[in-house]
Amino acid sequence: MESKLNFKIIGSGPTGILLAIALSKLNLNIFLTDLLSKEKLIHKEKTYALTHSTRKILKKFNLWHKLIPYLFCFDTLSITDTLTSSYSTLTISDLDDDINTENNIGWVIKHSDLMNVFFQEVGKKKNIFFISDQKIKREKISFDYQFISTGANSFDKRVLNFLNIKKIYRQSCLTLKVLIRGHERGRAYEIFREEGPLALLPLDKNLYQIIWTSSTYKSLERLNSDKNLLMDNLSTILPPQFKLDQMVGEVNVFPVSLSLKLPLFNFKKYIYVGDSFHTFHPVGGQGLNTCWRDVNCIFDIFNKNLFVKKRDLKLFKFKYYSNRIIDIIATIVITDSLITIFANGNLILFPIRKLSFFLLNKLVFIRKIVLNQMTKSLIYSKIK
Ligand SMILES: Cc1cc2nc3c(=O)[nH]c(=O)nc-3n(C[C@H](O)[C@H](O)[C@H](O)COP(=O)(O)OP(=O)(O)OC[C@H]3O[C@@H](n4cnc5c(N)ncnc54)[C@H](O)[C@@H]3O)c2cc1C
Repeated sequence: MESKLNFKIIGSGPTGILLAIALSKLNLNIFLTDLLSKEKLIHKEKTYALTHSTRKILKKFNLWHKLIPYLFCFDTLSITDTLTSSYSTLTISDLDDDINTENNIGWVIKHSDLMNVFFQEVGKKKNIFFISDQKIKREKISFDYQFISTGANSFDKRVLNFLNIKKIYRQSCLTLKVLIRGHERGRAYEIFREEGPLALLPLDKNLYQIIWTSSTYKSLERLNSDKNLLMDNLSTILPPQFKLDQMVGEVNVFPVSLSLKLPLFNFKKYIYVGDSFHTFHPVGGQGLNTCWRDVNCIFDIFNKNLFVKKRDLKLFKFKYYSNRIIDIIATIVITDSLITIFANGNLILFPIRKLSFFLLNKLVFIRKIVLNQMTKSLIYSKIK
């Protein structure tokens, strides 16, 4: 009988760590590494909107109920286009029957809460080893397969064997948390503006996470500006009924990009997962949700056999990329079209924008298609 295979996961962000937890259910040794310590990995000022596809995946891996105490839910989503002064509000009645009993359109979670729960889970698994690269080298551990989940901005020389498709938006996202009054309870907001989308995600009764997209130059200027000036600036672009009270925590800037890495006749035993495989514009909060669908796909491929053997690795790469490509391309097309059509002041697009909101407000089936695609994705029914 073959001994257990050794899998290495390089990068312990939310993708790498969920992959480790998922694969630990199989008969494998998992070596999880990162350049950062566990404390630094946990304490990042980030926030994620989670979709129904993610809920189903996290339930499957027995994690959803552990995250529930840290989730903030929203049951309405307001979408506004400032150029055409159009708006629409999507509600749980627009969700498909199989998910509307959840009574939520989506959920929001802080990175630190998520990573705390995931690291507790890692601590309970005897076959996950959170270990430094130096220790791996010292102990001369050899690996049967490697999973690269080093995020969007890491450089890796193995990437030379891959076809790299990239679109630079020349935009960045300024993120900050603010206390607000005048909002509807449990409502998330997406406001399309000429300089880029502005998203408001509920984090508590009056606390909101702001994701403010604009040119990188403008974002950096705002990051370095006086905090009172930044609040004044923000209050001028929020809906008039909103009253900004105060800023909470740090202000950060993240670059945004669209990218996809595909293998070029490459039979070596490693694959890219999560943001190191693909990135999208954060409009619609699709990034991490799509990363976790990669994890679900990897688990399903290996889960077909009780005991993962070396011969299962031969076709693995082909199965992984072919199973994931359609969902990823759909997410690229949707997020990029939203930016191309709605995040500029181009008057030629005015009729398309006006018509889109007219259809969204008048036709229930259009609202259903839009909302259910965003929260379920194309593969919802295949998540078992
Ligand atoms: C402003 C903004 C808002 C967003 N909002 C949402 C949202 O609402 N919902 C959503 O689903 N997604 C959202 N996203 C996307 C989401 O943040 C990413 O998809 C997600 O963080 C990707 O996780 P990851 O683990 O793949 O990569 P990362 O989180 O980048 O983690 C990569 C890890 O790899 C490590 N690493 C790097 N290089 C090496 C190396 N050489 N060796 C070892 N380790 C290495 C890093 O230290 C890091 O810990 C947003 C993104 C942005 C920019």
